[in-house]
Amino acid sequence: MQRDKSMTAAPPHTQLLIGQLLAAPAGHNPDQTIHDGFGNHHTYRQFHTRVRKLAAGLLNLGLGQGSTIAVMDWDSPRYLECFFAVPMLGATLHTINIRLSPEQVLYTINHAEDDAVLCHVDFLPLLLPLLPKVHRPLRLILMADEPCAVPQGFDAEYEKLLADQRPDVSFPELPEDTRATLFYTTGTTGDPKGVSYSHRQLVLHTLALAAGLGTVPGAGGLKRDDVYMPITPLFHVHGWGFPYVATFLGIKQIYPGRYEPGRLLALIAEQGVTFSHCVPTILAMLLSAPGVAEIDLSRWKVLIGGAALSDGLALQARARGIDVHAAYGMSETCPFVTVADMACSQASADIAVRTATGRPAPLVEVRVVDEKMNDIPHDGRSTGEVITRAPWLTDGYLKNSAGTEELWRGGWLHTGDVGHMSANGTLRITDRLKDIIKSGGEWVSSLTLENLVSTVPGLQEVAAVGIPDSRWGERPVLVTVILGEVSVEQDLRNCLDRAIDAGIIPKWAAPDRIYQVDSLPRTSVGKIDKKLIRKLLAEGVIS
Ligand code: AMP
Repeated sequence: MQRDKSMTAAPPHTQLLIGQLLAAPAGHNPDQTIHDGFGNHHTYRQFHTRVRKLAAGLLNLGLGQGSTIAVMDWDSPRYLECFFAVPMLGATLHTINIRLSPEQVLYTINHAEDDAVLCHVDFLPLLLPLLPKVHRPLRLILMADEPCAVPQGFDAEYEKLLADQRPDVSFPELPEDTRATLFYTTGTTGDPKGVSYSHRQLVLHTLALAAGLGTVPGAGGLKRDDVYMPITPLFHVHGWGFPYVATFLGIKQIYPGRYEPGRLLALIAEQGVTFSHCVPTILAMLLSAPGVAEIDLSRWKVLIGGAALSDGLALQARARGIDVHAAYGMSETCPFVTVADMACSQASADIAVRTATGRPAPLVEVRVVDEKMNDIPHDGRSTGEVITRAPWLTDGYLKNSAGTEELWRGGWLHTGDVGHMSANGTLRITDRLKDIIKSGGEWVSSLTLENLVSTVPGLQEVAAVGIPDSRWGERPVLVTVILGEVSVEQDLRNCLDRAIDAGIIPKWAAPDRIYQVDSLPRTSVGKIDKKLIRKLLAEGVIS
């Protein structure tokens, strides 16, 4: 950029850094509080001091700029402190997915080249056997909710480490493209892939999330008088970026620890939680948890992402007074891409607007394209792959140039999702490319089938998948979980027949078989695992 010589006193660059997100709450809301799930809390003023003490403690252990520091913890205020202290030092925060297999956790620690692991006592049985196989020397810090013995070989206990420090650490001035966070996503095949974000990307994502959610008229949104509690684990795409937004807005925050339905519901009631986000399976679990009927959920806004919000679940939530909405994104997009926009609602379309994947977030471009990347008409029907661009999408996969090239083909991030766009710019995801059912050369949308039957009473969960068929290539089947003992197969068939009569799906899209199981397998982030369902069907385990 050409600079005017009379303006040379101004700094040449004002970098976008995570530390800047702390500036506003520090000034405006120092007495607002951040809580754990066990009755403890501290103020934002204390939070600032703790972030600085944590940074000082890490420096004293020889960690700092250029280090990679991993965390294995439940959702806790400690984790939030790491979200800030680690990147502010110029180090990378590696949020370990504690639901991965031990082999995958070891792979990620080695692949990320971690220099330290901050580990909650509950995950010692997972971490300790891996230590002899870690390639680099590791600093180890124990995290615990109650006093406990520090294992041999550990350098410190988290609270003791903080207690021993002075908060007068000075953070380095960093270029805004310094790597801030790193986590691993597991695809359908191969090793976990490392996805990282810079300070600049996370700051811009925070601003866009605040603007994208805060300014939508009608319902939903995250406001400064909300009480925030995540129910997406902080290791899953940094809790979808919301801990940064909540801290930046200076609002009351609750970090619930391990996700136990009873405790989550109690915290909603006791702490007056008004905003959460989660995958659909978690909301479904909470809505059927014992004691849920006694809890007032009518002030609770819930943003659903990570998988489609079905009409059935949205209606169930609305019946409890919950202000439920969908948003869309993925690990590689930080994750915010689109959000349901109640401004395009008419009363009759209420549920349809809430469940649509929504409109692009500020600064996000979304296209729906064919295999040659030609745009597909915005008619709310024609489907293609969703591709996107935004300033915060990941640059690529760590040490995986083939994967990066595939992700960024033609200069757009390829989501691997299939959807359609309506004339008013509302996106609806109809499938993942890998989950599409291809019958007789035609595509059957698994999400459409699942959504259609989602309102059948007694149906608790459903997955539509394709199974190999010698004549048609693949045929759709439904795998269901039913509440209670009564079969609902006939009701499901009737529901599908009505959809065929109404022209919503063609006759050949109706599933050949409906299986009933006790539970559906989950991925490491709590979503329904269709890959495993297909395998169990192929092996005859589901029959
Ligand atoms: P992950 O990388 O684990 O966050 O998963 C991202 C994937 O979840 C996306 O690529 C979509 O397939 C799916 N997904 C996320 N949000 C939605 C949504 N609102 N509707 C349908 N699928 C979604």
